[in-house]
Amino acid sequence: MASTAPTLDLIVVDSSMSVAPLSSKAVSEEPPSSVQIDTPTPTPSNCTITREKPRTGWYWRHMPDEDINTRYLNSKGLVEWRCRYCIHGRYQISGGSRSIVYHLNKFHNINEASTREEKAKLQQISIERAVKNAAENPQKRRRLAEDSGSLDASTIEVLYVKFIAVCNLPLRLVECEEFRAFLGYLNKDINAWLPNSHQTIREWVIRQRDSLKVQIKGRLHSSRTLIHISCDIWTSSNSLAILGIIAHYIAEDGQLERSLLSMKDIIGSHEGTNLAPYIMEVIRTGG
Ligand SMILES: [Zn+2]
Repeated sequence: MASTAPTLDLIVVDSSMSVAPLSSKAVSEEPPSSVQIDTPTPTPSNCTITREKPRTGWYWRHMPDEDINTRYLNSKGLVEWRCRYCIHGRYQISGGSRSIVYHLNKFHNINEASTREEKAKLQQISIERAVKNAAENPQKRRRLAEDSGSLDASTIEVLYVKFIAVCNLPLRLVECEEFRAFLGYLNKDINAWLPNSHQTIREWVIRQRDSLKVQIKGRLHSSRTLIHISCDIWTSSNSLAILGIIAHYIAEDGQLERSLLSMKDIIGSHEGTNLAPYIMEVIRTGG
């Protein structure tokens, strides 16, 4: 797909999907999350779909962007690793990971073990957030078995929905006996709360979506800064053109936030004139 916009200033590349150059000048003052490019300003002709191996090394988590799949390109258009903590750490990926690991260790005292600790800490924060979210949105539930044990149903819902959403897993996973057996082995009490039907999981997803939407609206209303909008358009595996609309701002508590406002199914051309009404609708209605 070629861009028709002459003011192209960013290109969005996703290794698993089609490439969609998009002029964002009118709506965005922020760089996109999925790729960051040095000068010279790229044109659609130098943008190619690449299928790289999934990034599994721990050092990927020490690049500036939280998304480890963000591709930073140097001035020659080659993919490089960039250091989150200093401006000097830049290494071409083709050179292997040795220099990167050495850099992190020598200049920032970071190694694989400290990364593991950091991951455990993040995991704990994620669980604590889920517990907090669940407590703020209590739901009446029907227990599926007599003994529910120590597990909290609302927390299970928050964590389970996050798990299937982030990993792009089917709603029917919950109906898989082998999966249930695995969870049952970890904690036999899970059967008291884990639904047997994908229909209930669908309800869970919708409920969590609605609850998050309310939270995000609250965060946007109390933002300390202007709210910057960036967009990313791509083609889904079932051939729909989807426009993701993301708000960037500093929240009340001083956190830099990046909130997905909406994902719109686009009909018609991908020019700015066609996309603008979709974006304006999201801004007017708040999603
Ligand atoms: Zn560094």
